[in-house]
Amino acid sequence: MITKVCVSCRIEMRCEKNDVVLEVVYEDATLNELFSADLWQCQTCNRQVVDGIAHLPFSDRACGEAMYNRLKQSMIAAGHPLFIVHRK
Ligand SMILES: [Zn+2]
Repeated sequence: MITKVCVSCRIEMRCEKNDVVLEVVYEDATLNELFSADLWQCQTCNRQVVDGIAHLPFSDRACGEAMYNRLKQSMIAAGHPLFIVHRK
């Protein structure tokens, strides 16, 4: 089953790493969320895509800012790359 294709190179992308951390930062500063996701990469041009995003986020609203920041730092310290996306 083909899941991701690089449109520039027209080849299938490969999953490079599972359990990367995707942080969604809302521009109105009302909420931050952490998701577990996968990092995909084209083996020809090295273009990367984050996909396979978990359905349930870990949010600072639900658990409090201190616990949220501890979890984020522990995941980074454990070697999970962090990607940040800003959302309006
Ligand atoms: Zn490519």
